[in-house]
Amino acid sequence: MAGEGEWPAIGIDLGTTYSCVAVWQNDRIEIIVNDQGNRTTPSHVAFTDKERLVGDAAKNQVDKNPTNSVFDAKRLIGRRFSDSSVQNDIKLWPFKVIEGPIDKPMIVVTYKGEEKHFAAEEISSMVLKKMREIAEAYLGTTVKNAVVTVPAYFNDSQRKATKDAGGIAGLNVMRIISEPTAAAIGYGLDKVGSGKRNVLIFDLGGGTTDVSLLTIDNGTFEVKAVAGDTHLGGEDFDNKMLKHCVKIFKRHHNENINGNARAVRRLRTACERAKRILSSAVETNIDVDSLYNGIDFSLSITRARFAELNMDLFRKSIELVEKCLTDAKMDKSEVHDVVLTGGSSRIPRVQELLQDLFDGKQLNKSINPDEAVAYGAAVQAAKMAGMGNEKIQNIVLLDVTPLSLGVKVRLDEMSVVIPRNTAIPTKMDHDYTTFFDNQTSVLVSVYEGERARTVDNNWLGEFELTRIPAAPKCVPQIKVCFEIDANGIMKVSAVEKTTGISYGITITNYKASLSTEEIHRMVLDAKKYEVEDDEHMKKAKAKEALENYAYKMRSTVTDKEIGDKVDAAGKEKIEAAIKHVIRWLNGIQHVEADEFEEKLIGLELICNPIIAKISRRQ
Ligand code: AMP
Repeated sequence: MAGEGEWPAIGIDLGTTYSCVAVWQNDRIEIIVNDQGNRTTPSHVAFTDKERLVGDAAKNQVDKNPTNSVFDAKRLIGRRFSDSSVQNDIKLWPFKVIEGPIDKPMIVVTYKGEEKHFAAEEISSMVLKKMREIAEAYLGTTVKNAVVTVPAYFNDSQRKATKDAGGIAGLNVMRIISEPTAAAIGYGLDKVGSGKRNVLIFDLGGGTTDVSLLTIDNGTFEVKAVAGDTHLGGEDFDNKMLKHCVKIFKRHHNENINGNARAVRRLRTACERAKRILSSAVETNIDVDSLYNGIDFSLSITRARFAELNMDLFRKSIELVEKCLTDAKMDKSEVHDVVLTGGSSRIPRVQELLQDLFDGKQLNKSINPDEAVAYGAAVQAAKMAGMGNEKIQNIVLLDVTPLSLGVKVRLDEMSVVIPRNTAIPTKMDHDYTTFFDNQTSVLVSVYEGERARTVDNNWLGEFELTRIPAAPKCVPQIKVCFEIDANGIMKVSAVEKTTGISYGITITNYKASLSTEEIHRMVLDAKKYEVEDDEHMKKAKAKEALENYAYKMRSTVTDKEIGDKVDAAGKEKIEAAIKHVIRWLNGIQHVEADEFEEKLIGLELICNPIIAKISRRQ
């Protein structure tokens, strides 16, 4: 057995809105259905006064419990609280996000009557764990290894935070791969052996847009360039529609629903539904009964109006395609296939704009946009775990780094060490020197981004190289080395050449990312929540068993055929016992599973002999 050794290994598409899990099984990749029979699972986690819910169960109760129902953790992961996109999102979310230590956003919920703070990594870990459980239920075995996907445009800290989320969920994240690359595998696996093809993957999801240009040649999937926006997707289209509806409601009724989390949530759900309908119908209605102060909301909206409201965003997604082509130095005529993925790529106006850009070329819609990414991740997982067939074992993935990486020089200048769209894994270095005479230390400050000034880029971390021998300025030679692994996660080191003194960091001391101790604490918390969930489940089952038995007995004694055979005294005894149990059930507050079990035994001891007597008589 090759690679990580242990199988099964699963592929997880951890989406902003929905997640999907797949595995190599029965000689093919299978998308695994969840306990509700669905092939994708909402990336939602909800907290109530009794339990924690993940997936469909969490999404289904969102209207009742909007402030404790968390979604969109992917929009927060690896970001700082002060990030403008975080600030904008907060205004639209019904749940609360506060500034935690060192600028880390923390989600605030009430769970079992207590206020709890969660990092985005913890919420994502709960979703990952749910996906793992879905796979385990299907495979009938424990699952440890997984390949998890992230948007191609996710930066170092977002990738690292996603890997941490996997660790908190108890998974061994064998590899982080880019979503469009995974989708390309889903698309290109069948085409292996049919010559070299340039394939553009247009992935418009719930929260992100990713464009990747790949060359697929005999099992090698080589990414030429990526472009993307980690904040452009279906939810932004929902929000535009939502804002429009809020404005109309205000105009018609002079009432502002903003600030009423439940009303906003209900209206957003209706907008999302209408948006989906508008991908197949040209007109639909957005209806919400008793939206606010007893007033109903009803609005007819056309596909054209929806497109108009979102045209700036649609155009932005198309500009990313142009940028990707430019970066890959490829003319659009050289692209053999334009492949659509991500739920929002179903929007007709987006498809038209894309088709226009490629001079009317037929777009490829053959892959299932909701499942292609998990499919590709499962292929990579199978390859790494030594599963799968020859075709899978022969696949080679060559990805690129989405953002330029470099250090701050002089006052505020970005000196690029690894340019964006460099193939990974990679190792590159650059020589620097001192700024002053007799300077004995330098601060290596690491940034990512495309802007010339570091203030406009994203700061990742820094370290100081000390004990540089005193020398005139510009004499010492300091080699700064950047190394990016196959996950897109970076290590930086520096060495002073004459002394050989060096210093290095994995960029983990980035302010908003988690320390080893924090991850450890979160792993323990996750276990604690798991125990609580199990206890809750046990309690719910014990209660259900007692209720079922009580109601079954009641219908038995009231049943004409059987009940009439029970003597009056026996009937009275059973009815009294059932009445007692039901009254007890209605009055209970905090009851443990064994109390339900004891009550059930007590009830059975009364009822079973009486019922058994009539069975014997028959
Ligand atoms: P993903 O992150 O790829 O799962 O994409 C989910 C997003 O796709 C959500 O914002 C959905 O509202 C959106 N979506 C799903 N189906 C459709 C559709 N038929 N038309 C428009 N948007 C859709």
